[in-house]
Amino acid sequence: MALPAETVGRLVELFRDGASNRAAARELGITKNTAARYRTILAFPPAPKQPNPRRSPLTVAEKFATFTRPAEDGHMQWTGRRARGHGTPVFNHDGRTLTARPVAFRIATGRDPVGYVTAECGDRDCVAPAHMEDEPGRARVRAQLAAVLGTTARRDACRRGHATAEHRRYGPSGDPYCGACREETRTREGAA
Ligand SMILES: [Zn+2]
Ligand SMILES: [Zn+2]
Repeated sequence: MALPAETVGRLVELFRDGASNRAAARELGITKNTAARYRTILAFPPAPKQPNPRRSPLTVAEKFATFTRPAEDGHMQWTGRRARGHGTPVFNHDGRTLTARPVAFRIATGRDPVGYVTAECGDRDCVAPAHMEDEPGRARVRAQLAAVLGTTARRDACRRGHATAEHRRYGPSGDPYCGACREETRTREGAA
């Protein structure tokens, strides 16, 4: 079905002004398909892409930062909204809801986390990018912690009652042992 000449004239004007098929159709009370058909007939190029009105002028990292407040010892408080129920810090960016801690993790590491992201700084509510760990990170932290605690555990005496302060020695890889016990073992082996 052909459009009245007057409508076509208006369509040409609208297309010249950069109107999209949808916008022109709305303006003239015709269907989007009709507008598209006439765009082809009239040999107009496709309308320039309109910027997404919901598009944030801020990057994800910048938007994240607007919801944080520095706290003591490098921790960060979340001032933005929280998911209902579990209270996880979340925020909107470009029409999407993002969870704050995975974003913080990406800011700090430049990569996507594996599994859950948690604050491993002693402040469970912290959102400081440098304090975030994903699952492999947590396993690494625990292993390091176990190693540190293993070598510095404060025990007063060994299993046989030799005073730690006096007899504790360290092997080449940093593992602790009781010097007195080792001495006794050597003596016993020497005697045997
Ligand atoms: Zn922290
Ligand atoms: Zn001992």
